[in-house]
Amino acid sequence: MSVQVVAAKMAEVDLKDVPSSKDLPAGSPVSPAAEGKNIAKNEASSSAAASPTAESSSAKAGEGALNPNPGKMPQASAMKRTDPQQNGGEAFVNRDGTVAEAPRMKKIQFADQKQEFNKRPSKIGRRSLSRSISQSSTDSYSSAASYTDSSDDETSPRDKQQKNSKGNGDFCIKNIKQAEFGRREIEIAEQEMPALMALRKRAQGEKPLAGAKVVGCTHITAQTAVLMETLSALGAQCRWAACNIYSTQNEVAAALAEGGFSVFAWKGESEDDFWWCIDRCVNVEGWQPNMILDDGGDLTHWIYKKYPNMFKKIKGIVEESVTGVHRLYQLSKAGKLCVPAMNVNDSVTKQKFDNLYCCRESILDGLKRTTDVMFGGKQVVVCGYGEVGKGCCAALKAMGSIVYVTEIDPICALQACMDGFRLVKLNEVIRQVDIVITCTGNKNVVVRENLDRMKNGCIVCNMGHSNTEIDVASLRTPELTWERVRSQVDHVIWPDGKRIVLLAEGRLLNLSCSTVPTFVLSITATTQALALIELYNAPEGRYKQDVYLLPKKMDEYVASLHLPTFDAHLTELSDEQAKYLGLNKNGPFKPNYYR
Ligand code: NAD
Repeated sequence: MSVQVVAAKMAEVDLKDVPSSKDLPAGSPVSPAAEGKNIAKNEASSSAAASPTAESSSAKAGEGALNPNPGKMPQASAMKRTDPQQNGGEAFVNRDGTVAEAPRMKKIQFADQKQEFNKRPSKIGRRSLSRSISQSSTDSYSSAASYTDSSDDETSPRDKQQKNSKGNGDFCIKNIKQAEFGRREIEIAEQEMPALMALRKRAQGEKPLAGAKVVGCTHITAQTAVLMETLSALGAQCRWAACNIYSTQNEVAAALAEGGFSVFAWKGESEDDFWWCIDRCVNVEGWQPNMILDDGGDLTHWIYKKYPNMFKKIKGIVEESVTGVHRLYQLSKAGKLCVPAMNVNDSVTKQKFDNLYCCRESILDGLKRTTDVMFGGKQVVVCGYGEVGKGCCAALKAMGSIVYVTEIDPICALQACMDGFRLVKLNEVIRQVDIVITCTGNKNVVVRENLDRMKNGCIVCNMGHSNTEIDVASLRTPELTWERVRSQVDHVIWPDGKRIVLLAEGRLLNLSCSTVPTFVLSITATTQALALIELYNAPEGRYKQDVYLLPKKMDEYVASLHLPTFDAHLTELSDEQAKYLGLNKNGPFKPNYYR
């Protein structure tokens, strides 16, 4: 069944079927009571072996090879939910409509008042933005590593005349000559993004996004390129900017520009460049977006501030990150959200896979790339046994490390015990451990007193959202010497010669020092594509000016599209069993609150 039919099927859903957070049991992850904990879960990934036949096998999925319900596509009845952070901190939107900083976020400097962009950002200007640019760089995950050296050419892309081989110049990137290299990167990513490739095949000439003009602001990586090219195959026109000043893969941006996409992004943008690129995406003569795909909320914010009239034509916003979603809920709460929005961040397929599998896959990579440490026999303490902690512990245990866990929650603590880890207080093991990893989403979990007691050579790093889990600021005192020994690796040296190895200055280790598996990004990107299709095709009135979750059935559909990669054989409910469980044979198989 084609994606267009999915959209059509989605359109059959009555709003009365749309569950709201009120229908959910207290304490469930999507209920307001469970707020802070779940919003803390970010994006990321899962494992999965690359399969050269992924594309062809995934194509079979819809034909019934592994899908017990061939041709059955989920109907969308998006869930509305309240802001998971509503009790968690300060209001995000001030009474006067300005956007305030949420407590766990890095400082953002919006360029609200800027009317003109600088022509030639100075080198200093470029550097300074790392402190002020969107926090989305810290709360969304991507394969951020670019293999392109962007340092040799100091000319700002904004000062260059740019044209692709067809003479099109509606883009601004670092170097169009890298297009071929970027194309190879995209082709590699396609092999690990089976569901998007399956969506392309299923569209087969039908265009569920025909007429859609999507303006996007996400990491510009090979995985995003696969998403953009899928949207284009489904009929959309796209204009894109980067949500992060460092994560653009220049070669990928070049391949997209060569392919006719209007991309405005390069690795190492200045703050001025950042907003200029976003502006170039939306402020175009003869082209107005009708859909927004955002990661971090900066694009949405820019349109709100600069071009509010555009919202008359915009059908919806799809937002990926915890930060952007939080902003949307605050706008909604303040009655200022003027179009429907889909919260992709809290989709089951995202939460269930991102935190656990991404971290299980990337913790070892991040540690190895920075320190070359051997894991066997090493004593490691992992602070926090949530999804991220579980992933880290599992990976380290598998490598033969002796793993200790600290927890504040007796349930997670009991899980740690029953998974075979020693539950300790940090102080009990701090003198003996070789590696300390924080993954709590909390602050000041490792403080100066702990750092003082660590043994010589202890590696200290963080896998949680915020760079305040380790009190790095307490290490910036005159008696301690900092020595940068490698990129992202500092030795902090005590007066007696003891040194600890601090990774990424306490920022997310995997995001800063390794890559994230493409397969997980495929799950998230597929959810984004379906959310766009749903919002774009929804009949007038289905969605109000509020924030919605994709329904469980769509999550199940996204998961089913990824199963063929594993040659997985799903069991089909018999009529008798379906009746016994009170389920539709085609799903959804779990209640909406299930996580
Ligand atoms: P979670 O809420 O499931 O787990 C965090 C755990 O830490 C909880 O069980 C909590 O009880 C425990 N905890 C809180 N304070 C503690 C303390 N002082 N000492 C010991 N334990 C404490 O959250 P999660 O999904 O595991 O995410 C954890 C953090 O990682 C969040 O900040 C999240 O944004 C981030 N995250 C990182 C990645 C990544 O790729 N690095 C991916 C997803 C999420």
